Amino acid sequence: MSDEATPPHQSARPPQHVPAEVWERLPALRQKAAEIYRRLLDAYGEPDWRPRYPPLEELIITTLAQNSTDHNALMAYRRLRERFPSWEAVMNAPVEAVIDAVRPAGLTNQKGPRIQAILRKVWQEQGAFDLSFLGELSTEEAEAWLTSIKGIGHKTASIVLLFCFNRPTFPVDTHVSRVSRRLGIVPERASTRQIRAVWEHLVPAEWYYPLHLNLIRHGRQICKARRPQCARCVVQDVCDFYREQEAIPAPAP
Ligand code: SF4
Repeated sequence: MSDEATPPHQSARPPQHVPAEVWERLPALRQKAAEIYRRLLDAYGEPDWRPRYPPLEELIITTLAQNSTDHNALMAYRRLRERFPSWEAVMNAPVEAVIDAVRPAGLTNQKGPRIQAILRKVWQEQGAFDLSFLGELSTEEAEAWLTSIKGIGHKTASIVLLFCFNRPTFPVDTHVSRVSRRLGIVPERASTRQIRAVWEHLVPAEWYYPLHLNLIRHGRQICKARRPQCARCVVQDVCDFYREQEAIPAPAP
């Protein structure tokens, strides 16, 4: 956790991306975050960190998954690998052929050129289709390298860095966003960049991986977008959304 996370002096300014109202309530929110972490661990278990794919593959699959589902992204990825014999062939192919291969992922006019841009940058700088060099950079340097590619934002970069290199980054997807807002960990209008910064200040780095995965599980199984199953929820009593729905008074500060 950052040193900046020390409870602030009244006049201390919040760190970058941390909303002022979160910074002012940091000790209480830390307690709440720890409670949520423990309850989700009891409910869903503690996933061990292990890489899912090699880093370049993870980057391309995550790029395909932007505004899509994991299922469709994987289908697009498999089509891409079946249609081209190598990453070099993908890089040098007419962009229309790459766009057609990744069609199941949607937004292919953006994703096709983006994948070729990734491959070109890796090839030009490394002379190989391999991102393992990121493991030798600091987390900040590695994230800066990834986000220097057009269309690769902090979310995609943080997934690659957490899942492939076990670096202390907290990826925020649609499930993590929704559950974090409903629980009242972040204000309703918080951006995904802010949600990431808040979690990174609330919990220790070794919790990022299990908490990220368990928030996603919770969002998929219980705290669904349209109909949250609040009656079955293990964090109901610490959830702002539930309290508001049931008109339960907020606890004393
Ligand atoms: S109580 Fe309802 S809204 Fe709150 S986290 Fe649980 S399922 Fe989501």
